[in-house]
Amino acid sequence: MTGIAEIAGETGLNGLDGYRMTVTRPTFPAPGHDHDRCTADAINHAVQVCERRAQKFTPIRRQVLQALLSSHRPLGAYEVIEELAKSMSRPAPITVYRALDFLMENGLVHRIESRNAFLACAHDHDDNAMVAFLICDRCGSVGEIPAGRVAQSLSDAARTTGFTPKLSVVEITGTCAHCQKAA
Ligand SMILES: [Zn+2]
Ligand SMILES: [Zn+2]
Ligand SMILES: [Zn+2]
Repeated sequence: MTGIAEIAGETGLNGLDGYRMTVTRPTFPAPGHDHDRCTADAINHAVQVCERRAQKFTPIRRQVLQALLSSHRPLGAYEVIEELAKSMSRPAPITVYRALDFLMENGLVHRIESRNAFLACAHDHDDNAMVAFLICDRCGSVGEIPAGRVAQSLSDAARTTGFTPKLSVVEITGTCAHCQKAA
C-alpha cells in the first residue's frame, strides 16, 4: 500500500467536526450491481445541488458528468472527450475542462491527482469534508472513505515543522475486496 498525502489546510479542514457523509451504498459496489441506479442518483443529486446554489446544470455539464458516471473508474479529460464523442460531435477540450471545473467547484466531481483523472462523486458529502480515495490497482475503481481524522493528524504533524499545509488530498492505492476475492 502506498499513499500520497497532501495535507488539508485552513479551508480544507473546516468541515472536519461537522463531517457528514451519507453512506447510501458500498464504497466499492459489487460487480454487476445496478449501476443505472448509481448514475440516476448522482444526476438527481447534481440537479438538486445546482438548484440549491442557483447554478445552471447546462447540457454539457450534464453530459460530462454522465460520461464520468459510465463506471466507478476515474477518467482523464481526453477519455471524457472520447466517451462524449460516442453520442455527440466531439467537444473542444476547453469546453470539457470548463465543465469539469464547474463540477469540481460544486463537489460533484473529484480530481484524482495521482492518475490525473476525474471521478464522479457517488456520495453525498459536504464539499469541504475530507475524504480519502482508495484506488484499486486491478479494476481501476476508486472508492471514497471519510478521512477527517487522519487529515487532521497529518496536518498537525506538518504544522509542528512550521509547514503550513494547504491542499487536501489523500490517495491510497491497493486492491479492492472484489478483486481480492476474484484473485
Ligand atoms: Zn455503480
Ligand atoms: Zn465524493
Ligand atoms: Zn478492484
